[in-house]
Amino acid sequence: MTLTTNFEKSAQEAWEQDRAHLIHPFSSLAANKEEGCTVMAGSDGVHVMDAEGNRFYDGIGGLWCVNVGYGREEIIEAIVKQLRELPFYSAFNNLTNKPASALAAKLAELAPGKLNHVFFGTGGSVANDSAVRLVHHYFNRIGKPYRKKILSRQNAYHGSTHLTIALTGPVYQAGWDGATDLVHYLSAPHSYRRPAGVSEEGFLDFLIQEMEDAILKLGPDNVAAFIAEPIMGAGGVIVPPEGYHKRTFDLCRKYGIFYISDEVVTAFGRLGHMFASFDKFGIEPDIIASAKGISSGYQPLSATIISDEIFEVISRPGAAFFHGFTYSCHPAACAAGLKNIEIIEREKICERVRKTGPIFEKTLHKLEDLDLVGEVRGSHFMMCIESVADKKTKALLPAEANVGKRIAQNCQKRGLIVRPLGQLNILSPPLTLEVAQIEEIGAILRQSIKATMDDLK
Ligand code: PLP
Repeated sequence: MTLTTNFEKSAQEAWEQDRAHLIHPFSSLAANKEEGCTVMAGSDGVHVMDAEGNRFYDGIGGLWCVNVGYGREEIIEAIVKQLRELPFYSAFNNLTNKPASALAAKLAELAPGKLNHVFFGTGGSVANDSAVRLVHHYFNRIGKPYRKKILSRQNAYHGSTHLTIALTGPVYQAGWDGATDLVHYLSAPHSYRRPAGVSEEGFLDFLIQEMEDAILKLGPDNVAAFIAEPIMGAGGVIVPPEGYHKRTFDLCRKYGIFYISDEVVTAFGRLGHMFASFDKFGIEPDIIASAKGISSGYQPLSATIISDEIFEVISRPGAAFFHGFTYSCHPAACAAGLKNIEIIEREKICERVRKTGPIFEKTLHKLEDLDLVGEVRGSHFMMCIESVADKKTKALLPAEANVGKRIAQNCQKRGLIVRPLGQLNILSPPLTLEVAQIEEIGAILRQSIKATMDDLK
């Protein structure tokens, strides 16, 4: 199962140093030691290259983030220009910088309705952690310090700080601690795996009733916020039943609970809109957490965008705002974000995704004729292939079959990077894919899944 063994010397050296010293994020550290790693070394448009010069379609957009693709000289120049002028300065207290203030104003313009205030961080976990800290602080300041519980969902992925791993569903918690006492988990809106004999409408009614029962059981006055990704990403690209967002939002309004939309993956074009919660699903959250596509990965950056109502309370005189990071408002990261958004707007990338996204979906759905493919699901450039042992019963293959990993390895041999997650393979490519490239990716996936079926015989 070795991914790449024949490294050139420099890649071999990189791997030796890696094996001895580097702790990989979200990985099997034991398997890496045994199997080696691919050393990534170059990029170009929608492709990445390893250190041996092999070229791959980047089917995962870096990690759901390289929305405008690689090699964008304009972004690189904006970063370099900013580094020359002012590489860094703190924004604590009364200090600011031009890129951060301009990006905050731009995000306030793009975000729905009353979302006009922006807190910058360095990534999606920080964006969600900040969202919850701000909500808690809001309730402390209006004299309701007991309002602390957060409703989240099984299969959610909101990050891996002590707090955000708790917001993340229990799947990623085994063997690790987190602030789980703050969180109440609801069911994932996972229609494909809903109980047999239950209609999609019946399933939606169940989910909504479950949420209302939970609010009443916890006591509405103890619940601070509900956090939800518009489409669950790392939990399996779960698209909720039609109407789910509207009805969960209405419940939040009914009980005075803040709605936090985790748009770390879904914002900045991935689903064909700047912000999917509002533009695609028709709700106006109280907070949007964003990261990844905000800078297309050219710099680490996140933005937690909050409503006028929350800002008005937390900015009242009488208490300090004890929340912030050295690299909040990093000038070079904000310069990258500004240029990235300029490109998304100028090249009409959202409109383009609304045309090419459905072609990507259709191309992947064609794979459903293969025996191994239980379901292809997702929307636009956020897709997932679920493998099953039996299409009818939806039974899974044994974990030792490593089906997602095998498919990913077979894809990589054929020039495509996809992300394995258990029985799933996730695709979240750059949004600039051409139709011919989409077709080629579809063909590679078909060959690779067929090869995996042969491997498993
Ligand atoms: N929220 C969602 C929906 C994500 O998919 C991720 C990461 O994939 C995060 C939050 C955490 O972001 P980060 O890894 O940048 O901390």
